[in-house]
Amino acid sequence: MKFDKITEPLDRRLAEGLTRLAAVARQLDWQTAESVGLSPTQADILRFVASRPEGIRLTAAAEHAGIRKATASEAVTTLETKSMLRKQADATDGRAIVLKATPKGERLAREWPSSFGPIIEGLSEDEQELLYRLVIKMIRQLQQRQLIAPQRTCVSCRHFRENVAPGTSTPHFCAFVSSPMAERHLRIDCPEHKSAA
Ligand code: SF4
Repeated sequence: MKFDKITEPLDRRLAEGLTRLAAVARQLDWQTAESVGLSPTQADILRFVASRPEGIRLTAAAEHAGIRKATASEAVTTLETKSMLRKQADATDGRAIVLKATPKGERLAREWPSSFGPIIEGLSEDEQELLYRLVIKMIRQLQQRQLIAPQRTCVSCRHFRENVAPGTSTPHFCAFVSSPMAERHLRIDCPEHKSAA
């Protein structure tokens, strides 16, 4: 068929499409950051720290943002100046310092609009569920290849029992809450996550 010869391979077209979607999401995130006087990196670190109320080390924040520790440190200093983050001694190790969001930083992170919201809102619930499954699969593969910082996903959690009821609508089980789980219940960032590693 002629189109088989003149069409780019599927994986390249898929990558191109995802790149464009990511660019749109990034642009929306930048606009939001700019509207509150933050750089994209500062905004990323603020939201990451706010999602860890127990406190998080600078190294983990730098890993999450994919930047050098020195760059993360500069972003944290700015966020401190703006009264959005604060440093305090780690409760588990008094010599270490953790970052925590202030009430002002927490509020800003909580109200931050989802940059992918406009991208996925046109999909049906079934389509969103299918896409969610694929996203989890991709994150898992990246984790296994150590290409992204560790994520608090079900598939890397010691409480997760995968496919213990095959063929049912809730094939998985979370031992933390002792409850069956459907694919759509799987979490990408769970506060109760305990690494299986
Ligand atoms: S504790 Fe959280 S991450 Fe772990 S299996 Fe349960 S829901 Fe998933």
